[in-house]
Amino acid sequence: MSGLARAIERVMISPANYWAGFALDGGVAAATIAVGASATPAGPAAIALALAAGAAFYSLLEYAVHRWLYHRWPTIVRRIHRHHHADVRLVQGAPCFATLGVAAVLGALAALVVDRGLAATFAGTVLAGYFAQSVVHAQLHRGRRAPRWLDGLRRHHLAHHRHDDGNYGITTTVWDRVLGTARPAAERAR
Ligand SMILES: [Zn+2]
Ligand SMILES: [Zn+2]
Repeated sequence: MSGLARAIERVMISPANYWAGFALDGGVAAATIAVGASATPAGPAAIALALAAGAAFYSLLEYAVHRWLYHRWPTIVRRIHRHHHADVRLVQGAPCFATLGVAAVLGALAALVVDRGLAATFAGTVLAGYFAQSVVHAQLHRGRRAPRWLDGLRRHHLAHHRHDDGNYGITTTVWDRVLGTARPAAERAR
């Protein structure tokens, strides 16, 4: 393994990255949405559409990254994701430079088709989606202390940990059902 790969692995499994990324992603997402929504000359309907598009895009991105980057392609992140599958107490976050970088690129691409305010609203919502995923995923692994309203997602995710070849969605089960990777959640959540 190269020195760079080892450095990335060290970053990804460190609690410091997890908490720094958590705070940064949440803060930047909220600020970007607030600034974007107030800067756009577009009306509330367009802002609502940008928020919905960001949430939908995030959920598909979450599915794709987990399915292919974390489980299929022989990437360094797949190796790192194995740590979480080996020990669910190890909750890892993507390096914060990666999540912020992806959001910045998405914002720049969106700005090619809509005004900057709407583009920022869209990109901020995608980042907020990742923030929400971090919160939800940590809750899913809290055993009986997990909130009841997350039971459905918890059963879905625990089945992912058992089968390893399906249930890639964390914050939604929609893409697993649409793309044929839904696995039965036999185990009761509590
Ligand atoms: Zn996984
Ligand atoms: Zn998990």
